[in-house]
Amino acid sequence: MITVMKFGGTSVGSPEALQRAAGIILSEKNDKIVVASAMSGITNFLVKGSESLPDNRQEIIDEFEKKHLDVAGQLLNEEQMAAFMEDFNARMQKFKELLWDGAVPNDPYYIDNLTSQGERFSTLILCHALKAAGARSVALTSEDCGIYAEGKPLSGSADLRRTESMMAMKVKPYINDGVIPVITGFYGIKSDGLPLTFGRGGSDYSAAVVANAMNADVLEIWTDVDGFMSTDPRIVPEAIKIDEMNFSEAAELAYFGAKVLHPRTIEPVRMKHIPLKVRNSFKPDEPGTIIHHLRKPKDDLLRSVAIKTDLSIISIGSAEIAYHPKMVARIVEKIAENEVVIYSISTSLSTVAFLVHNNDVRSILLKLNTLDPEDIERIEVKSDMALVCAVGDNLLSKCGVSAEIFTAVKEARANVEMISEGASDVSLNFVVPMSRATDVVKILHNKYVGGGSNEGL
Ligand code: ADP
Ligand code: ASP
Ligand code: MG
Repeated sequence: MITVMKFGGTSVGSPEALQRAAGIILSEKNDKIVVASAMSGITNFLVKGSESLPDNRQEIIDEFEKKHLDVAGQLLNEEQMAAFMEDFNARMQKFKELLWDGAVPNDPYYIDNLTSQGERFSTLILCHALKAAGARSVALTSEDCGIYAEGKPLSGSADLRRTESMMAMKVKPYINDGVIPVITGFYGIKSDGLPLTFGRGGSDYSAAVVANAMNADVLEIWTDVDGFMSTDPRIVPEAIKIDEMNFSEAAELAYFGAKVLHPRTIEPVRMKHIPLKVRNSFKPDEPGTIIHHLRKPKDDLLRSVAIKTDLSIISIGSAEIAYHPKMVARIVEKIAENEVVIYSISTSLSTVAFLVHNNDVRSILLKLNTLDPEDIERIEVKSDMALVCAVGDNLLSKCGVSAEIFTAVKEARANVEMISEGASDVSLNFVVPMSRATDVVKILHNKYVGGGSNEGL
């Protein structure tokens, strides 16, 4: 039996957190493989640093080194620290080279490489914490493991097949030998061997890829909340923990903004029927949430609500566009050329509207401008929109559910700008201005989640 255990930034972000993580790992009876994020704050620090290159190179190096040595120094005794420093200096040497010799400011591939560096050091410290506790452990990078990826910076996709055969060769022998591998989350490597990140929060996806590649029996995501909750507890402090979810519910919520899981975490584990647990590293005795194929239906109208912010609606108007599917196809093709994510599409007789990220609007408009102007009468953009994703049992088969939900939206004085219902059998999604989104979520949550009143339904 193999358990893949992923620890997020706050779960490895301090000497105490690392100590706790090591304790959790050592109390796991199965064979285990650990995946870790960078210590909290480190990736943000690198992203920020990358914006002022090259003048700030030495500052980045000094602060990065200090942040990691401070934590390691509090965790390890003198002898352990001496062993740690050998590995640390070797990795630090490469980090310095990346900044001094290899710096290519403004190149997205270079920035991906630089921002992926935090994971190499958190995994090293965690590995040495395990060794200090008497375990046999090895710190492996995505390069060492052969976690292959393709795509664009900040949105890499793992090559699952290639990764599986590489990890069978590079990682399995350690497991067979009773050694605990501690693997870098967040990035894979392209065919040229250089890093490609999976996007912010990508270590969850890395862990799912590792679980898939190693045919694990369970994936545990250890984070800083009690499990998958009924909404973001930072928005609604009364959010409750969900005991059990199915893969589709979790996938929709993660895709539409529930930050607790990276949007792409579910697919690699669902494919191989690997159950996923979300657990709190600060309360290791709590069971957390289990996400798997089936679960018992509940009576609550809604189980969980997520919001995805910073979106824009691009509406393209043209006479009777609905009768010209080829024109719609050309528009979609143009948008797809940039490989942007389309969160929703809706059409009417003379308009087709797309929901995309604010940051993608400029490049989409440039592409649309290359279409025949005779075909397109007008293009409108509404920015700063938020998509609310409401998930519940039998949402679509219960009569009057939409009316209830939109009454709550009205109470939050929000205008619904776009709706998508029926595209998935577990969720109802709609778009409201970002300025009203938090109120919408609060009202929906308080009315319909966890025994809130939903009489009459
Ligand atoms: P980690 O560093 O462990 O990956 P993240 O900060 O990426 O942790 O994700 C955990 C955070 O996700 C929580 O602290 C919480 O604020 C936020 N969050 C958003 N939606 C949810 C949800 N539905 N359930 C639990 N946490 C959520
Ligand atoms: N360290 C990366 C980030 O901050 C990946 C992760 O935490 O999952 O985005
Ligand atoms: Mg995360």
